[in-house]
Order: sequence, then C-alpha cells, then structure tokens
Amino acid sequence: MTREKELLALHESIRNCTLCPLHKTRTQAVPGEGPVHARIMFIGEAPGVQEDATGRPFVGRSGELLTEMIESIGLTRERVFITSVLKSRPPNNRTPTQSEIEACRPYIDRQIELIDPRIVVLLGGVAISSIVGPWKVSDSHGDYFEAKGRIFFMTYHPAAALRFPKAKALMKSDFEVLRSLLV
Ligand code: SF4
Repeated sequence: MTREKELLALHESIRNCTLCPLHKTRTQAVPGEGPVHARIMFIGEAPGVQEDATGRPFVGRSGELLTEMIESIGLTRERVFITSVLKSRPPNNRTPTQSEIEACRPYIDRQIELIDPRIVVLLGGVAISSIVGPWKVSDSHGDYFEAKGRIFFMTYHPAAALRFPKAKALMKSDFEVLRSLLV
C-alpha cells in the first residue's frame, strides 16, 4: 500500500473511532489535512467547535492566526500537514484527560511515521507534553531538538496567542526561529 493510501485508511479509522468517550459527544472526528509528503507538520491540542462542525483542523480564529503565521515564514497551508493530538473535540473545549490522550496517541504516532516530516511543530503545552516531554510552553517555546532525524520545535498554541498579546509576540518571534530551520 502506498503511504498516501495508508494515510487515507488511517483517517478513515479515526473518523470511525470509538476508543475513548469523546466519540459520544463529537459531531465528527478531525484527522488532519495536508500532503502526505509534507516537510513540516503542525500539531495542536484538539478540535474546537468549528473544527468539530467542519471536520477540518484549525479553521476557526486560531486557524486564521496559524495560517497567518505559516504564511509569514514563506509557507502556505497547502504545503504543510496540520493536525492535533486529540482527534475528537472535548466538550466545551475542556483540557483533554490523560486517558483520552493515551487512547488517541497511536493515531498521531502513525501520522508522524507515515508523513515523516523533517520538522514537527508542537503548538502549546498539551502537544509538547504529549509528544516530547513534560515541559511548560513558557519555558520551552522557541526551542527545538533533533530526534530520529527530525526537529521537534515548540511554541505557543494560537488560541493562547489570541488571548494574550505577550504570547502572540513570543509566538511570532518563535516563528522567525522556525523560518531559520527551513533552509
Ligand atoms: S479522541 Fe481519539 S481515541 Fe478518542 S474517540 Fe476521538 S479519535 Fe478515538
């Protein structure tokens, strides 16, 4: 099976997934979108209300800001893969529980494996702590490390940047560091 077909099959499994209680309250799961050969992958926390309604990642106000930031470093949404740690929306956008994160974890692991990006951008504390380690975004943003031939880059979640002007300014400067890694 080609990588593309495997990714499509994985996304179909995600859409039908009932592994954690979030399947009962979601409208639909949101697997993520972007090219299977993307060099950069952005990982957020979980779908919000608009993502849950449309089935697409980062389409609300956070998505607009993320798109703006992506374009500010010379990329386009069409060239990157965008997804989140959790594929189903937690009710009222509450923080995901550890057991939900663990139930959903194989999907993000497999997406990273199949897409095989050079750079994985972790947006916010939940993405950072779920994928790489128990670091606070306030301590680790703008920082990165290499593992298994990839760069893991940490920054704020756009939703935090929308709430706090300081986080937005820090996220912008983090993206300048990210730009320097694109060469
Ligand atoms: S959040 Fe993940 S594990 Fe839970 S139902 Fe959705 S896809 Fe399945």
